[in-house]
Amino acid sequence: MEKKLLLVDDEEGIRKVLDISLSDMGYEVLTAENGEEALSVFRAENPPIVLTDIKMPGIDGISLLQKIKNESPETEVIMITGHGDMELAIKSLKLEATDFVTKPIHNDILEIALKRAHERILMRRQLRAYTENLELMVREKSERLVELERLTAIDQAMEGLSFAMRGIADDLGEDRLRYFNEMPCFVSVHDSRLKILAVNHLYRQRLGNAVGSSSWKIYRGQSASAERCPVGRTFITGSGQQSREIVEFPDGFQSMFMVHTAPIRNSDGRLDMVLEISTDISEVKRLQDELDTTQQRYQQLFDESPCYVTVQDRDFRILASNKRFREDFGDELYARCYQIYKNRYEPCCNCPVIKTFEDGLPHQAEMVATSNSGEQIHLLVGTAALRNTSGEIFQVMELATNITQIRKLQDHLSSLGLLLSSMSHTVKGMLTALDGGIYMIQSGLEKSDPARIQEGITSAHHTTEQIRNAVLDILYYAKEREIKREVISVMSLVYDVVQIIEPKLKNLPIVWACNVGCAVGSFEVDRTALRSAIVNVLENAVEACLEDSKKSAHHVGFGVKIDNDHVVFEISDDGVGMDAETQDRLFTLFFSSKGQKGTGLGLFIAQKVIQKHQGTITINSQPGVGTTFSIHIPMTQ
Ligand code: ADP
Ligand code: MG
Repeated sequence: MEKKLLLVDDEEGIRKVLDISLSDMGYEVLTAENGEEALSVFRAENPPIVLTDIKMPGIDGISLLQKIKNESPETEVIMITGHGDMELAIKSLKLEATDFVTKPIHNDILEIALKRAHERILMRRQLRAYTENLELMVREKSERLVELERLTAIDQAMEGLSFAMRGIADDLGEDRLRYFNEMPCFVSVHDSRLKILAVNHLYRQRLGNAVGSSSWKIYRGQSASAERCPVGRTFITGSGQQSREIVEFPDGFQSMFMVHTAPIRNSDGRLDMVLEISTDISEVKRLQDELDTTQQRYQQLFDESPCYVTVQDRDFRILASNKRFREDFGDELYARCYQIYKNRYEPCCNCPVIKTFEDGLPHQAEMVATSNSGEQIHLLVGTAALRNTSGEIFQVMELATNITQIRKLQDHLSSLGLLLSSMSHTVKGMLTALDGGIYMIQSGLEKSDPARIQEGITSAHHTTEQIRNAVLDILYYAKEREIKREVISVMSLVYDVVQIIEPKLKNLPIVWACNVGCAVGSFEVDRTALRSAIVNVLENAVEACLEDSKKSAHHVGFGVKIDNDHVVFEISDDGVGMDAETQDRLFTLFFSSKGQKGTGLGLFIAQKVIQKHQGTITINSQPGVGTTFSIHIPMTQ
């Protein structure tokens, strides 16, 4: 304890005596012989205790007490009073003197007064300490409280953010929820010591509960340090950062993240915290790639499809079109469909787009459009509704197929049909006449020149044969008919064919090898149609042999067998055979290598008939060696 004391008395004797006893008590005694001196010593030395005479010339004890208490209220002032000074003593107590001792001063009494002074000093000090402590405590407590409140606010913000994210996910609906979940947003808040204060649910789930750990903890590579991590850079620069970072998951798996940060400032504008939001872009990139390729594929499909594709709105405005459309009708976007296709000023009356907008169903129509080059194009138009996420139709896709060629062919065929049927009528008459003529030649000229007559007969017969074949083909083709199935035995059909073909081979240098013995069973077929198809193929075989002058003898084979529920007809010849080009084209309509003699209808029709029986016709041919046709007809339908 500091034991400095100022002793003020105008009587030198008293000063001396008291100085001695006080020094004995261990005090460092300062002395003054009047009020003025006392004040200046007090101001210089600032002793905690002042012992002063109450009655002094000049500034007396009471005024000194007042002055000291004014300047330093905590100074303990003990008054020295005489016997008759009770009133002054009381006054001094009222002015907050610590105590008073009466002359002659008794050491014990002085000691008690001093003790009291010390107790008061001690108490005051303790009080001050307590108060200071309390202030500190209050400051600490309130700081902690603010901190807690901030954390609660952050937590609430996190929760709100998570809730909002969940809300968005819910709004996206079931199927897109998958994409949302695969595109996770990791949210965290960091303080200026670069510690994580809070994380969202997803962060906790995937990266662990990182609250309290360092802001750069999840990063690998360059950013795995206080100054280089996104939050660190935000605190250094004071502004939001955006970067790609390598993040390591707790299982050691590393992934590329897109990281965004935003500074959070407190009310004084001081950068207080940083919000970090990141997305796993490896996942996003994979999805993006997937989306890109799908989109590319769609675009390709859209562009390369062999139709005119347009997307139209309710005003028939063309919002998108494919390459083929742009090539033939121009690339003017937002033009009206009917204007572009037909040069009209209002929609067509049978417009399928209107219907699809009305009922959402696909519709079809046939139209004739005029292309940029003025060409008339027949279109078969089909539509499909395009719906938005809430299922409303907002656009219609129109696919228009160019059927000009088909239409031309159809026209061609139907006029051909007309032509042929009238022609066949005439030829039929001719046939009767020719047959009669032959009869007349045979009977009338029987006895004159048999060789010439025979020659005439052969040629006439040959002509009739040719005409007959052509007519049969033509008749068949002139009318597109449905097949009429009946259950017949395989052998009966074979018999029919042999009946027709064998007479034709008479007198020809061809060896006929018929191998049909084991074809037992029956099937449901159009007898007439199938018979003429097989006969056609056999006739071609015979003709191929006749055409071939390189071999001395020729063979035509006809085999029939049952194989795996199929009846297999095999027609082979060692005639001229076929080159690759002929093999490619022999089933096409009107293809013939026989010039005037051929019609190019035989195999075309034969293939049609066989296909209508769900059967197949295949060839194996070598130029100069020969040809084999195989016809497979299923036995059960
Ligand atoms: P056409 O007999 O009237 O020419 P087809 O349709 O019957 O018409 O036959 C088409 C073409 O196929 C023939 O012109 C011929 O070139 C070729 N061809 C068909 N069968 C044979 C065969 N067995 N050997 C060689 N060529 C054949
Ligand atoms: Mg033929």
